[in-house]
Formats: sequence, structure tokens, C-alpha cells
Amino acid sequence: MSHTLDYRAIKAAAAKLKFRTKAFIDGKYVDARSGKTYDSINPATGQRLTPIAACDETDVGAAVRAARRAFNDGIWAKRSPAERKRILLKFADLLEAHLEELALLDCLDAGKPITDCITIDVPDTVRCFRWHAEAIDKEYERVSPTGPDNVALIVREPLGVVGAILPWNFPIQMAAWKLGPILATGNSAVVKPARQTSLSALRLAELAVEAGIPEGVLNVVPGNGAIIGAALCRDMGVDAVAFTGSTEIGRQLLRYSAESNLKRVVLELGGKNPQVVLADAPDLDYVARQAVNCVFWNMGENCSSGSRLIVHRELKDKMLEKMIEVSKEWIVGDPLNPATKIGPMIEESHMNKVLGYIASGRAEGARLALGGNRTLQKTGGFFVEATIFDNVKAEMTIAREEIFGPVLSVLTFTTEEEAVAMANDTSYGLTASVYTKDVATAHRVARALRAGTVSVNCFSEGDATTPFGGFKQSGFFGRDKSIFAHHQYTELKTVWLQLT
Ligand code: NAD
Repeated sequence: MSHTLDYRAIKAAAAKLKFRTKAFIDGKYVDARSGKTYDSINPATGQRLTPIAACDETDVGAAVRAARRAFNDGIWAKRSPAERKRILLKFADLLEAHLEELALLDCLDAGKPITDCITIDVPDTVRCFRWHAEAIDKEYERVSPTGPDNVALIVREPLGVVGAILPWNFPIQMAAWKLGPILATGNSAVVKPARQTSLSALRLAELAVEAGIPEGVLNVVPGNGAIIGAALCRDMGVDAVAFTGSTEIGRQLLRYSAESNLKRVVLELGGKNPQVVLADAPDLDYVARQAVNCVFWNMGENCSSGSRLIVHRELKDKMLEKMIEVSKEWIVGDPLNPATKIGPMIEESHMNKVLGYIASGRAEGARLALGGNRTLQKTGGFFVEATIFDNVKAEMTIAREEIFGPVLSVLTFTTEEEAVAMANDTSYGLTASVYTKDVATAHRVARALRAGTVSVNCFSEGDATTPFGGFKQSGFFGRDKSIFAHHQYTELKTVWLQLT
């Protein structure tokens, strides 16, 4: 398949794609011990894509034992930082060499638009592994300011075995956000991809071994979250679990940890993110484009989706008009078509949940300004139109709950204080945007917004160098990306030396 993104060529390449459908444990593909499989469904057609190994607690146990053995052998953890860097860079090169294949896997499995997979998800995955690899031999450790009779080294050591429980909305990218720092710091890993989207993680594991990451260091166990996610988080041999997903399951993981070995739990959860457009916002054509991208990108199945537009009362009509115009470019369709910007919802039940939120918006008195329906039903896929609600009040369900679909709620304010209060009036705190021409206002509002990432005059999640994670119920105990992500996968050790 060429990078020119020709629909016919992409469809032909998709038809020839080979799927890895078994668990990857100790460097080998293996069936679930029970022999059971489940069907992975293509959300664009509603048809079965492939059967996948339905692992259970036994398979998780085998994966954890393999990871522990690899860790104890020191085949990865005790390699020199420069050597781990070399291997991880080779891994990144291999991922890049398989960019189209990996992009197609996520496109078919998750219904993500192929253009996004090729230009955002997989390139970001490669950059992420490269960045963490490069950082390995750049970080110095510390010597504490003791008296002359002692030397005290303060060093970081890997935790051991880290479980990564992944969401379905950015399958390969979230694998990289977790595995980049987990592997860079010398840990072994057991990955549990989301039940709906295991294919790219299963292929990634094989490429990791090809790059030289020793067998057993990276294991992937597909299956039902309630069974194997829970088993992983309850396992006494797992030292930490890194999770991206819903707040509800995040809460459950804390319980599993408390009931087992008090493993560290790094949580990246949901969001109900505000986009604040102040009275002196720059060029509204630009702002409308950013605002629409922020909410509809990845079908709104994005924890950083800016699903609440909080706009100055006097700009609202103009913004609404411009956003509706720009939304026409957000074509809903086959995710294999390079022209598609909105693919299907991940599965039928999730589509129904999103349609339920749209119904609640109507019932609670918001004005439907765009979309609002299921579409392309004949395909068998789970498509929902780009949807905008006007006249939304802060207490309405669509203004409070994470919808995880292409649905924007427009709310208005009069003063800056009111805008900040509305933006912060949520149990979440993942991301926020603010639009203003004034630098002082930008600083003031950015500092007042209670969110892990605040973008000024754009929608952004930062890049590999910046930490990503939430305030409040959007998560805690760590961050994805940047050098800060290395800390949560290491223990701090003091080595106290007596010199006399
Ligand atoms: P989820 O939280 O149920 O699933 C996330 C991961 O956790 C998956 O790998 C899943 O298999 C696993 N899991 C499920 N139950 C588990 C359990 N009991 N123990 C351990 N692991 C378990 O999310 P979902 O069902 O895929 O989506 C539901 C909602 O979660 C969405 O509507 C959205 O609001 C939110 N979500 C947020 C993100 C994000 O990026 N923050 C990503 C996906 C979903």
C-alpha cells in the first residue's frame, strides 16, 4: 500500500492482511489454555473480523510468570542503558517499517479513519518509543548532600512486572504510551489490550522480539477485561498496573490492588473537557476549526475530547454557524476510505449509549443544531452523525457525563470568572482549551483551569516531551509520556555508604 492513500489500494491491502490471533507469552504465540476464542467484530460492517484467543486467569498467570522469570534473569532489567536504548530504537524502526500494516490493523479493529492511523497513531507510536529509548542513557541519578563520612546514592530501579490494561480508542498508541516508559526503565510487561482491539498489540509483541527485546519481557494476553484485567490486577506477582479507560473500572482496579499486594495503579481515566472561547478570541474561523477537531476527532471516542464548548454569549451565534459549516468536512464513512473523518462507534452497545445521550439532550431541552442520528445503517456498521447541541445548561446530562461520541454541547457565559467556574464544574480534569488574544488572560485562565493539560489557542495533547494525565477523577499516580512517566515505573533506592 502506498502513502498516497488510494482507497482501492487500501481495501486491497486490508483484504490481504494477516492477523495474529493468539496470546503472546514468553516470546511465542499460544492458544488460550482453555482453547476458547471470541469474535473480534469490524465496527464498520458489524461482521466478524477474526476469532481471537479468549484467555483467562490461567493464561494471565503464565504470562506473569514468564515476565517475572525474564525480570529475575536480568536479561532486560540489567542490560546497560545504552544497550536497552539500542534495542528499543531498533524496535521503533521496525514499527515504522510496518507502519501501513499496523495502521490497517487499528483501522479494521477499532473503526478509526485510515488517514488518522497512518498520519497520527502509528507515527506517534514510533516517536513515543524513540523518545523513551533516547532518554534511557540521558538521565543522571543523584548523590545526597551528606557529611564527609558518608556517600549516599539515590538511584531508581525498575519495579519488576508491570501490567498494562489498554483502551480500545487508540489501541497501538496507548500501548506505546504505556510500554515506552515501562520497557525503557527495565521492567517486564504483561499487556491486556481492550477486548475489541487486540490485533495491533499482538503484532507489536512479535516485532519487539524481532528487535531483540528478550522473550518473556513483553507478553500480550487478549480477552475479556472483567476476567483477565481483574486477574492481572489481583495477581500477587504484578508490581504495578498502568490503566487507561473508564473511571468506573479505574475505581475497581484500586480495590483489586488493595485486596491483593498493594500494587501501584496508574490511572488515566475519562474527561468532560471544556473549550473556553473568551470574548477576545482570535480569528473565529480558526477557532471553529480547532473546536470541531477537538470534539469530533477519533469520533469523539477520546478522553481529551472537548465536548463542552463554553463560549462568550456574544460570540455564540457566529461560532455555532461556523462550526456547523466546518462540520460538513467531517465526512462519516468507511474508515478504510482516506476521505473519511468519522468512522463507526466501537461497537453496537456503545453506539446505543451515544444515541441514548443524544436522546437525553433532546428530552432535557437542549436544541439539536446538527446531526443527532445513526447513519449508514445499510453497511451494518455503528455510525453516528457529527452532532451539536445548542442552549445546553450546565446541569443537563450531556453537559456532565462523558459521552465518548461525536457530540458537542454549547454553553454560554458573560464574564471570565463565570467561564472558569463553568469549565471547572465537573468531576473530571483531564484537558482544557482556552482561546484569547491577550497573553495575560491566557496565563491567568490556563492556571485557573483544573486540568492536566491546558492548550492555549489550539487543541493539543502536547507531544512526547510533555506529561499527559488528569486532575480530579480523570486519574492519578502518574502521567503518560515525558520523563515523568519513567518515575512511576521505578522505585527510589538509597544506598548509604560509611567511608570511615
Ligand atoms: P473500560 O474501562 O471498561 O475498559 C478499559 C480496559 O479495561 C479494557 O482493556 C477492558 O477490557 C478492561 N477492563 C474492563 N473491565 C475490567 C475489570 N473489571 N478489571 C480490569 N480491567 C477491566 O472502558 P470501555 O468499556 O472500553 O469503555 C467504557 C467507557 O470508558 C467509555 O464510554 C469511555 O467513557 C471510557 N473510556 C475512556 C478511555 C480513555 O481514554 N480515558 C478509553 C476507553 C474508554
